[in-house]
Amino acid sequence: MPHVTFVPLVGFRVREAEMLELGMSLPGLHDRARAIGQLPALGLLTLAGMLPHDWTCDYLPLDTIDQSAVDRILSGHPDLVAISALTASVLDAYRLSEKLRATGVRTVIGGLHATAMPDEAARFCDAVVVGPAEPVWREVLSDARAGQLRTVYDARKRPAPIAWTMPRFDLLNGDMARYTLQTQRGCPLACDFCAASRLLGGFVEKPAARFDEELQAIARLSPRPVIELADDNTFAGSRSPDELFEVLERSGARYFTEADWRIGERPEVLAGLARSGCLQVLMGVESLVFRYPGMGQKQAELDRVLAAVERIQAAGVAVNGCFILGADGETRTSIDRLVDFLLTSPFADIQITLQTPFPGTQLRRRLAEQGRLLNDRDWSHYTLFDVTYRPDRMPVEELEQAFRDVLRAVFSDAASQRRDRIRREVWRKGHALRSKSRCSKLVDEAGIHPCQSP
Ligand code: SF4
Repeated sequence: MPHVTFVPLVGFRVREAEMLELGMSLPGLHDRARAIGQLPALGLLTLAGMLPHDWTCDYLPLDTIDQSAVDRILSGHPDLVAISALTASVLDAYRLSEKLRATGVRTVIGGLHATAMPDEAARFCDAVVVGPAEPVWREVLSDARAGQLRTVYDARKRPAPIAWTMPRFDLLNGDMARYTLQTQRGCPLACDFCAASRLLGGFVEKPAARFDEELQAIARLSPRPVIELADDNTFAGSRSPDELFEVLERSGARYFTEADWRIGERPEVLAGLARSGCLQVLMGVESLVFRYPGMGQKQAELDRVLAAVERIQAAGVAVNGCFILGADGETRTSIDRLVDFLLTSPFADIQITLQTPFPGTQLRRRLAEQGRLLNDRDWSHYTLFDVTYRPDRMPVEELEQAFRDVLRAVFSDAASQRRDRIRREVWRKGHALRSKSRCSKLVDEAGIHPCQSP
C-alpha cells in the first residue's frame, strides 16, 4: 500500500540572540508561544481524512531538522511526504525536503507561504499546492503513485464547494494539551498585514452539524478537551452564534478563540460565550499609531474598543489584547506611551509582536515598493519577534531595542501577576455563569438540582 507521511513544522522560532534569551526568560511570553507552536496542524489532519482506502499514513510534527528527524520519516517508508510550514519555518521545510529527495522520496508542500511563493517552493519540493489543498489532493496522490507529480497544483483554478472532511484527530499522539477545530474559514475583513484571511480562499462558515461531529470525534479521544478554534475571526459572519454555542456547551469543551472587539457590542454573543465554555478571546487591537487599510469596521476609537473588552470580561471571558509594534508613525515616544497604557489596561492577557510583512500581504507589497524590506534577513527572521523591514521614524536597531524593552516591561513579574489577578477574577465570573446555566438546564430537563446530582 502507498504511504504518505504528514510533517508539520512546529515550534517557537526567534532569530535574534538577545530576543531569544528574553523570550525564554519571560514565562508569560514563552508559555503562550509554546502553546501555539505545539497546536495540531489541522490542514494536514484534514488531508489525512481524505486519503483513499488503499493509502496509509502517519503524522510526524517536527521542530528541528536533523538526521534523526529524517531517519524517523524514512523508517515509515513513505512514497510521499506532505510538508506544511509557516514563513518562519519554511527554510527548515525546504532543508528537510532536499534531504528526503536525496534519498528518492517525493515531497509536496502547501500552506500560506507556499501559496504566496510557489516558484520558490518549487525549487526545493517536487510539488507545490497553491491555495486550499482539498480540490487537488486526490490528484496529487494519484500522480505521486504513478511517479508523475507535477510541479504546481493550483487549487484556486478549481473552485469547489468545501466538503468539510473530518480531520484524522486519531493520528495525534495521545491526549493533546489543546486540539484545533474550525467553525469557519477566512475572514470577511482584509487587514493589510494579514495573509491568513483570504490567501487560502474566501470567508465560509462550516455547518454546525459538521462542527458537532468533529467535536464528538475529539471528545472520544479526550473527554473534556481544551480546544483552540483555528478561526481567523469567529462570529464575524452573518449567522446566529446560538447554534455554535449550543454545540460547544453540549460538548463540555473549554475553548480559546479569535474574534474582533465588535462581539463586545453584541448581547447575543456576550450571553453565550462563557456558558458555551469560552475561556479566552484573542483580539487584535493592532496599532495605536497607524490605521491599517482593510480593517473595515474593526477600526474604531480606543475607548469604544476598551468598553467592548470590559463587557466581554464582565461576561466571564478573558481578553488577550494583541498589539503590533513598529507600524508607520511609531517612535520611541509612542512606544513608551503604549507601555504605560498596557501596564494599566483592562486586558487579562497581552500579546505584542512586531509588524511583519509576510508574503502575500498588501503590507509587504507596500514596503517593497518603498524599498524598505531588509532583504538580507531571510524567511527565518519572519518570526514576529525579529525586525524584517526599515521603520519609517526610527533606525532598525532602535526598534529592536524598544521591542525588547516593551517585552521586559509588559511581561515583568509584577505586570504578569496583575494580569493573572484580572484573569482569575474574569474566570471566576465565567465559572459562576457556567454553573448557573448547568443548574437551570438540569432543573428544566429533569427537575434535578446539581447539588443533588452525582
Ligand atoms: S480581522 Fe484578523 S483575520 Fe480578519 S483580516 Fe484582520 S487580522 Fe486578518
